[in-house]
Amino acid sequence: MKLFGSAKPDAADRSTTAVAVEPTVGGVCLQCGMAAIAGTVTFCRRCGLPIGATPRATAVLPSCPVCYATVDDDGRLASLNRARPRVDLVAHMIEHDDYPVGDDDYLESLRAGDLIRIDRWRAPFDLVRRYLVTGAFEGGHRRTYEHSAIVTAMSQLKRWGPGADIFGDQAEWQAARAAVTELLERYHRGRRTAG
Ligand SMILES: [Zn+2]
Ligand SMILES: [Zn+2]
Repeated sequence: MKLFGSAKPDAADRSTTAVAVEPTVGGVCLQCGMAAIAGTVTFCRRCGLPIGATPRATAVLPSCPVCYATVDDDGRLASLNRARPRVDLVAHMIEHDDYPVGDDDYLESLRAGDLIRIDRWRAPFDLVRRYLVTGAFEGGHRRTYEHSAIVTAMSQLKRWGPGADIFGDQAEWQAARAAVTELLERYHRGRRTAG
């Protein structure tokens, strides 16, 4: 994710210490989530904001590319480990090593460019991953809606073309729905065993 560029702190010393997630040496801009280069940099090169300062009220705050959570107004997120204090976005992303949202290795194994193979269908990878991560938590009508959106995307990518009456083929629709459900369950099964 370009937001973080090459500034993501290296993981070399994380395995040797079990202490609370250490932010980068240079600190992290709480407004845009970019890690500052270690050393004398005290202002974010992108925002001009002092490192560690509370984001401006008008700022568009950054989100985690792993779980899609957006930082709160203070530029931080609650730690995924309840014993820890709030963390900046970079530290939060590192926490996903210990708290994965799902089996992303499995998901990547199904990737075909920008698409993901779901059984005999294809759908946009990003759309599907976002659904697998957020749909599992949100539930209800929204989940049903998003689930259908993915099935629609799967169907429209088939050779029938945009003019086809995709809803007329109930068996195909049901099969596609079942395939997405299976993927959803498989993805989160990975999360449980990884933890
Ligand atoms: Zn910034
Ligand atoms: Zn996250």
